[in-house]
Amino acid sequence: MSSPLLGNVRVQSRVIAALDSERAHHCYLFEGPSGVGKATFAFWLARYANCAAPTRPCDQCPSCRQMLAGSHPDLLIVGPDPSKATRVISIDQAHRTIEAIQLQRHSARRRFVIIDPADALNEESANALLKTLEEPPQGTQFILVSARAASLLQTIRSRSQRVRFGPVPGAELRGWLAARGLDPELAVMSGGSPGQALKLSQGEGESRRKLRDALVSAVGQPLHKAFALAEAEGKKEGGVNRAELVLDVFEELLRDTALVASGREGLVHPELRAHYEDWARILWPGGLGRMWGHVASARERLALNVNGRTVLEALLAQMNLEAR
Ligand SMILES: [Zn+2]
Repeated sequence: MSSPLLGNVRVQSRVIAALDSERAHHCYLFEGPSGVGKATFAFWLARYANCAAPTRPCDQCPSCRQMLAGSHPDLLIVGPDPSKATRVISIDQAHRTIEAIQLQRHSARRRFVIIDPADALNEESANALLKTLEEPPQGTQFILVSARAASLLQTIRSRSQRVRFGPVPGAELRGWLAARGLDPELAVMSGGSPGQALKLSQGEGESRRKLRDALVSAVGQPLHKAFALAEAEGKKEGGVNRAELVLDVFEELLRDTALVASGREGLVHPELRAHYEDWARILWPGGLGRMWGHVASARERLALNVNGRTVLEALLAQMNLEAR
């Protein structure tokens, strides 16, 4: 069976082959950038392993249809608890998952538990799951999905087999976008992530460009300008935290700066080269490392539900300090 998704061909083939030959690790950790298909592949595997048709998954048989409808009792997808204010997989959810997999399987050959994103496990819920991750009941396959695997507890990481997904190669992604009538250039802007490219194509592109320009012009300016940006962008809009988007864009700018500073190509925003050269002079190499750290801690604070404006103010103030 060949791999079903764009890119990461070898990675996918290896997991499929392990599953086919009953040598699959009982707990995989799919890690890598967001939007490259980690969760999509996990969901595909669940259908593939349980489909009754000769060409799997057929997406027609009762097992496939139930999984696609989200009603298959042997497919558990565990995500952040909707009843909590923070983005967390709660201890209650961990307990419910453990209870559910102690029961006899309903119909599946192999039961799948997909934890997405696994970095939403907190210490409590992660600890509750440890024993089960180590020795799940016969026929139960765990897949942890995370774009921030480094923030998982070491105890969780050590119990899983890591499967690293990378960006989708440019040519492949461009072809895929073109076949959908979308702008092939999104391949570059998305950093090789089909999921991200789709988001960009749905209007995020324009607002992202504006945000990028606002960020670039706020750096090195009096702090009140940066704070005005933090105020404007630090709010939630229809359940979406704009501050997360600011961090995504800011990270792209830092990545591009690092590429320019080290004389490499592949910029996400090549038209900003002149700005990057300025930033590189100021930040390379120590300041850049510190700014990565500030972005990471900004993300953590957002995940802990710290107000977006406060988080952005702190980050932009750090950047202005560095740029001084
Ligand atoms: Zn099927």
